[in-house]
Amino acid sequence: MQFRNFKMVGYVVYGRGSFNQLDEIIAPHRKAGAPMVFLLDHYFQGKPLESRIPLRGNDVLLYADVTYEPKTTQVDRIASELKEAYGTVSGIIGIGGGSTMDLAKAVSLMMGNTGSSADYQGWDLVKQPGVYKVGIPTLSGTGAEVSRTTVLTGPTRKLGMNSDFTPFDQIVLDPELTKDAPKNQRFYTGMDCYIHCIESLEGTYLNEFSKSYGEKALQLCREVFLEEPHWTDECDDKLMMASYAGGMSIAYSQVGVAHAVSYGLSYLLGTKHGIGNCIVFDQLEEFYPAGVAEFKRMVAKDGYEIPKGICANLTDEQFDKMIDVSLGMKPLWENALGKNWEAQMTRSRLRALYEKL
Ligand code: NAD
Ligand code: ZN
Repeated sequence: MQFRNFKMVGYVVYGRGSFNQLDEIIAPHRKAGAPMVFLLDHYFQGKPLESRIPLRGNDVLLYADVTYEPKTTQVDRIASELKEAYGTVSGIIGIGGGSTMDLAKAVSLMMGNTGSSADYQGWDLVKQPGVYKVGIPTLSGTGAEVSRTTVLTGPTRKLGMNSDFTPFDQIVLDPELTKDAPKNQRFYTGMDCYIHCIESLEGTYLNEFSKSYGEKALQLCREVFLEEPHWTDECDDKLMMASYAGGMSIAYSQVGVAHAVSYGLSYLLGTKHGIGNCIVFDQLEEFYPAGVAEFKRMVAKDGYEIPKGICANLTDEQFDKMIDVSLGMKPLWENALGKNWEAQMTRSRLRALYEKL
C-alpha cells in the first residue's frame, strides 16, 4: 500500500477529573465472570489514586513493576497467570507512565494470541485482536497513549509489537494524574515528546499531517519548558496534549537519530527511554542544530540533570553491540538522513558519537 492506513485509538476522554468517569466508561465492556484487570504503576501503591480505582466483582488489581522497562518475559508471565486464573478477562486497564501503558497493551494482545510476545516483536506480526484495553497516562510525553506500538525488550532485541491491534480502545487523559511527578522525571518524559517533534519535523518522511501535529506539540513544549516562569496546573494540561499531538505526529512519520542511538544505550545499559534520549540529544548538534540549542536552553532554565560520561568504560565488544542495535533501526535512520543513510552513518561515525555520551 502506498499510503499508510493507520489505526487510531477508539475513544478519547480529556479533562481534569475525567478519571472519575472510568467506572461508567468501562461498564459496557464488562463480561459476566471475566474480571477487569487494572495494571497500576507501582509508584501509586498505597497512594490516593489506588483507592479511586473502580474495582467491582472479581476485578483484579496488579502493580506494574516498572523498575526496568517492559520485557517480553514480564508480559508473558502476566498474561499466562491471567489465562490460568480466569481463562479470559474483560479488559486490561493500564494506569501509569509509558512503561505501564506499554505493558497493558502487550498483555492485552497476548490474551488473544498464543506463544510469546517475543514472537510478535516487529511490524504487523500480530494477527488476532487482544482483549479490550484502556490507557491512562500519569506522565506526559511518550505518546504511548496514541501509538500503534508497545516497546518491549526481548531475548534478542528491543522492538515494539507494531500492529493495527496495538492501539488502545480507550484513553483517559486526566492531567491531574501527572501533578506529583518528580521534576526531573517530568522533564525527561516531556523531552521525549519534544524530541519526537524535532525528529519528525526535521525528518525526510514529513508530510502535512505529521507537520500539523508536530508543530502544535512543539509550541506547547516551548510554552511549558521555556516561557512559563513556574510549573502550573495549566502546564500539566498542555504537556498532556503535547504528548498526544507528538504521538500523532510520529504515527505518520518516524523518529530519528536520538531514538536510534538511545535504543542502543537502552539495550546494553538499560538506560531508560526519556533520560537516554536526553543524554543523546544533548550531543546531536550536527544533526539538529536549532533543536539542540533550544533543548540546552530548556535544561539550563530549570537546572535539570543530564548525565554525562555513561559510555566512558565500555569495551569494543559493548560498543559494537550498541552499534548493531542502533543500525538495525533502519526506518529511523532513513527518516533522519534520507535513502543513502548507510553511506552517511558509518560504524566509526556512530562509535564516535557513542563515545561522546
Ligand atoms: P516510565 O513509565 O518508565 O516511568 C518512569 C518512572 O516514573 C517510574 O518509576 C514510574 O513508577 C514513575 N511514575 C509514573 N507516573 C508517575 C507520577 N505521576 N508521579 C511520580 N512517579 C511516576 O516513564 P515514561 O517516560 O512515561 O515511559 C518510558 C517508557 O515508555 C519506556 O518503556 C519506553 O520504551 C516507552 N515508550 C513507548 C512508546 C510507544 O509508542 N509505545 C513511545 C515512547 C516511549
Ligand atoms: Zn520516544
